[in-house]
Amino acid sequence: MSFESLGLRAELHRAVSEKGYSTPTPIQTQAIPVVLEGRDIMGGAQTGTGKTAGFTLPLLQRLMSPYKAKNSHRAIRALVLAPTRELAAQVQESVNTYGKYLPLKSTVVFGGVKINPQIHQLRKGVDILVATPGRLLDHVGQRTVDLSKVDILVLDEADRMLDMGFIHDIRKVLALLPKQKQTLLFSATFSKEIKQLANDLLDSPVLIEVARRNTAAETVTQVVHPVDKSRKRELLSYLVGSNNWQQVLVFTRTKHGADRLSKQLIKDGITAAAIHGNKTQGARTRSLELFKTNKVRVLVATDIAARGLDINQLPHVVNFDLPNVAEDYVHRIGRTGRAGNEGEAMSLVCVDELDLLKDIERLIKRDIAKDIIDGFEPDPAIKAEKSAKAAQKGRGRQQQRNNSNANQGNSTGKKTQRKKTPGKKKKPGGKRAAPGGYGNQQPRQGRSNRQKQSRSR
Ligand code: AMP
Repeated sequence: MSFESLGLRAELHRAVSEKGYSTPTPIQTQAIPVVLEGRDIMGGAQTGTGKTAGFTLPLLQRLMSPYKAKNSHRAIRALVLAPTRELAAQVQESVNTYGKYLPLKSTVVFGGVKINPQIHQLRKGVDILVATPGRLLDHVGQRTVDLSKVDILVLDEADRMLDMGFIHDIRKVLALLPKQKQTLLFSATFSKEIKQLANDLLDSPVLIEVARRNTAAETVTQVVHPVDKSRKRELLSYLVGSNNWQQVLVFTRTKHGADRLSKQLIKDGITAAAIHGNKTQGARTRSLELFKTNKVRVLVATDIAARGLDINQLPHVVNFDLPNVAEDYVHRIGRTGRAGNEGEAMSLVCVDELDLLKDIERLIKRDIAKDIIDGFEPDPAIKAEKSAKAAQKGRGRQQQRNNSNANQGNSTGKKTQRKKTPGKKKKPGGKRAAPGGYGNQQPRQGRSNRQKQSRSR
């Protein structure tokens, strides 16, 4: 199968082959002809499958058919909604890359940055608008955007938009669009809410599903390294150093944790940067650029900030903390092993996280191999903090929402107030880590004695 045989225009082949793509990925093979026919799509596709090109290429082609060169003022004819700034920016980058030989114009609007330059771009006229829902509504409120001519609507990572609490914003945007339009909805998971949205929105959609739900790409090797919480940072530095990893994406559960970890890694002599919702957009873009261009070896990120990051051939992902929501594990490790490349996903798991690990294994329907690194054996005397899972789970969704608000940078620049949660207390006599609680373990040769001494200093 080639891109030519999918019926795409020469300008699009040219752009795609300059990107180095020779064969379409499965989602592209399935989605491109359907979009070209003008049908609605319900797409079950994870990041890393090539879904962005899967909808962008045929969308560009469709916008060209009624294209009137040098005609009246350009109207927005395609709208792509995405959950985060990073994903929105990356989608627009793809639109520009694939559309470089076409006379179409696009722009992107998201929160957390000044609105005036966006207004300026919109005034100049664009064919394709990529937006996060909150900022798009700000433009609607200021009457700086007209959505009445939209022919094609794309909801990218719709499940994430709902998780982040955007359903009301999405519905407000939908009310402003023409009834008659083509809609493409992509989601990694199909919750009841997504099905409801799809029902309301799509007209006899073609269902395209390229990877089973909640499964990780087969090209990703997954492993758990059991370790005490207090030694995770040391183990991470050891793994990065001893394996000479040059590009590692590390996930932490909190923004504060991301900052602290990146500072500690720098102290260990490992170049690192952090990316999360409390950073300015400029700082986030800079950190990402440093990482992409191999100027820092480790990028420490929170889930929301990392959502949609597309870094070609990212070889290693480390879960410094397991996510509170098991689905996030799949999204996290989907950062590696993309487009058929090999990838490795490691999770540093302490005794408090064993319940979260079980949730993940249940979700992905398999046990993850356990590998204790020699010299980092968990201390069996350390007990799990009581009901860590319950406390984490309760906070999980709320935290996601708070993160998402901060990440979106609402138009007023105000952050959502969050109540302080009391610190967890260790309860004497709490649950003790059952021997072998981490499942099958395979000790492996780790540090030499000399390394061990130098690390413990
Ligand atoms: P996505 O799932 O859209 O985030 O894409 C994942 C990665 O695959 C991106 O880095 C794309 O540049 C890359 N990609 C998309 N389509 C192809 C293709 N046909 N061949 C090789 N790589 C591709």
